[in-house]
Amino acid sequence: MIVSPKIRGFICTTAHPDGCAKHVEEQIAVVKGRGLVQGGPKKVLVIGSSTGYGLSSRIAAAFGCNAATVGVFFERPGEEKKTATAGWYNTVAFEKQAKEAGLYARSFNGDAFSDEVKHEVIAAIKEDLGQVDMVIYSLASPRRTDPKSGEVYKSVLKPIGETYTNKTLNTGNGAVDEVTIEPAEGDDVDQTVKVMGGEDWEMWMDALLKAGVLAENVQTVSYSYIGPEVTWPIYKNGTIGKAKEDLETVQRSLDVKLAPISGKAWVSVNKALVTQASSAIPVVPLYISLLYKAMKAAGTHEDTIEQMDRLFRERLCNGNPQPDEAGRIRIDDWEMTDEIQQIVGKRWEDVNTENLSELADFDGYQAGFLKLFGFGLEGVDYEAECDTAVGVPSLS
Ligand code: NAD
Repeated sequence: MIVSPKIRGFICTTAHPDGCAKHVEEQIAVVKGRGLVQGGPKKVLVIGSSTGYGLSSRIAAAFGCNAATVGVFFERPGEEKKTATAGWYNTVAFEKQAKEAGLYARSFNGDAFSDEVKHEVIAAIKEDLGQVDMVIYSLASPRRTDPKSGEVYKSVLKPIGETYTNKTLNTGNGAVDEVTIEPAEGDDVDQTVKVMGGEDWEMWMDALLKAGVLAENVQTVSYSYIGPEVTWPIYKNGTIGKAKEDLETVQRSLDVKLAPISGKAWVSVNKALVTQASSAIPVVPLYISLLYKAMKAAGTHEDTIEQMDRLFRERLCNGNPQPDEAGRIRIDDWEMTDEIQQIVGKRWEDVNTENLSELADFDGYQAGFLKLFGFGLEGVDYEAECDTAVGVPSLS
């Protein structure tokens, strides 16, 4: 099948197998180019390992630390006439590269919120690795089925208390419009906390600990975002922000639970980047486009792979995590410098449809978005037939 992008709103419904493979190869090259991480983990479980920050975490662990990796994700396999989701092709490519490098890699495609997947993964760790010494939790999901009650919870991206109106970018046509978002109502906050808060992270860690598959000195990390004040009503102070606060509460609880095995839980605050999850948040694509322009000009721009490599190399594995006053790791540090935020803040005031390409890196945003689905990568023949039904080796 010849595969081209089909964009519907903020999602691309097709993915290119060879393009996704190239994207994974590029990420591996970044990590390898920086040399082996000293003191890195040896056996790593990544929950949400197929795209975005989780995929880059898995690559940083495998190719930066020579770690064996177990990955968990929820993706759709391809068929002869229908493409898989990007995360499926990313995993096919990751496993192929890991095998060539002599690295153990096993993947699980299923609902990470369920008890069944937790049991399956724990059994596999016991069987193949004995224990893991790092657990990365990088799920981003719009809904969660509670494994005990069967109830389905839905997360929403809304401000709390007041209606929020601000600039936003229509990523379909490059128009800078205004968006008004009504505040959360009913149990919107509780629902969002159920999905994107720390409960499932804690359930995973409880189950892993109980099964005895966490090694001494294990570290576990979950990802968060804070960002600048202009996005606070919709992010930090909105429904998703409440879920991220819950993550920090769970982090402190996990620290206590892991103390007997000298383990440590972290929340790492990462940079705003184009991913499948972030492209769905109103206001954020405009902020990201302005941010990319400023950070590229300053020479400090990073993508998920550079972020995750820096997290492993300069925070988690070198004994110098540099936590902030709340105990969080901050690899959003370069994004949040006064210099960058002043430029972005000023341009936020000035930006409109006419001057967008001058003030913001909308081209970079779009290229980054397409890349998530394997499009626009150099060296890939997009006119050629490709095998869309390719399987993930460890799942076949
Ligand atoms: P993403 O959409 O690229 O990745 C989500 C991952 O979760 C995928 O691997 C997907 O398969 C998996 N997943 C979703 N539902 C699942 C389920 N039910 N069972 C198993 N796997 C499931 O998202 P991302 O942007 O990389 O986000 C990961 C984390 O990083 C989130 O906590 C997010 O808040 C955080 N974060 C993102 C940004 C950003 O700008 N993108 C910034 C800071 C922090």
